[in-house]
Amino acid sequence: MNQSVGEQIFRPLAGDTFFFRCHRDVPCFTQCCARLRLILTPYDILRMKNRLKIGSDEFLERYTDTVMDNRSRFPRVRLKMRPDRKHTCPFVTQQGCSIYEDRPEACRLYPLGRATATVEGEKGARERFFMVAESHCHGFSEDRAWTLEEWMEHEGVNEFSALNHGWLGIITSSRSLGPREYEARKQQMFFMASYNLDRFRDFLFGSAFFDRFHVDPALREALKKDDTALMLFGFDWLRFSLFGEKTLEPRLKKEDK
Ligand code: SF4
Ligand code: SF4
Repeated sequence: MNQSVGEQIFRPLAGDTFFFRCHRDVPCFTQCCARLRLILTPYDILRMKNRLKIGSDEFLERYTDTVMDNRSRFPRVRLKMRPDRKHTCPFVTQQGCSIYEDRPEACRLYPLGRATATVEGEKGARERFFMVAESHCHGFSEDRAWTLEEWMEHEGVNEFSALNHGWLGIITSSRSLGPREYEARKQQMFFMASYNLDRFRDFLFGSAFFDRFHVDPALREALKKDDTALMLFGFDWLRFSLFGEKTLEPRLKKEDK
């Protein structure tokens, strides 16, 4: 996680294994779920809003802040901590994480952190992992050994990484966004397709979108209900509309849909 109580120490992931175990009997149980600057990915939001059975508009309104700073040229969405003295995560309880099965990728990865970069022309992102060895965390004193691969599998990180992969390629791309006058509009598109899936679905089905683009009928049907298919389609649409990539096929003239 990006920041929490106690001193944070970033260490290279040295050697083949690391020792760690988190369980209810550690004296620091749930202490790490506070004062976080936890940036959410599209798939994080999809899983959390569906877990909570609320729409993406409501999720964004209730649980997140939007961040615009010089770390990214695109808006990022951060989980909003409770306004209590400890600034705890809205989902932490005395029994632990109340959305555990649908917790965000950063929570799954912890106590590891990951730096990601994509290089134009290279397939796949370059990733570097490191330990986030916070002084208050007793998990490092436990005797359970993990390899990086074992940890990623055990915590379900791989599924999240695979589904967020296309989006990471977009936010780390150095490709031009084109003329400045279109930038604000492109930022709005990015926000909607990345974070506000219900609004994105309304946009697709409430506009002339399918008159303008060829979309396989089976996929079009799936986009009505399948949030994961919608999210992945949104990444293709963003590549097309932000960078002019040929990820969608425009209709040349009035054609049968
Ligand atoms: S052991 Fe570490 S990860 Fe587990 S509750 Fe304590 S601080 Fe959090
Ligand atoms: S989502 Fe769950 S695991 Fe993540 S910080 Fe909140 S309570 Fe902790």
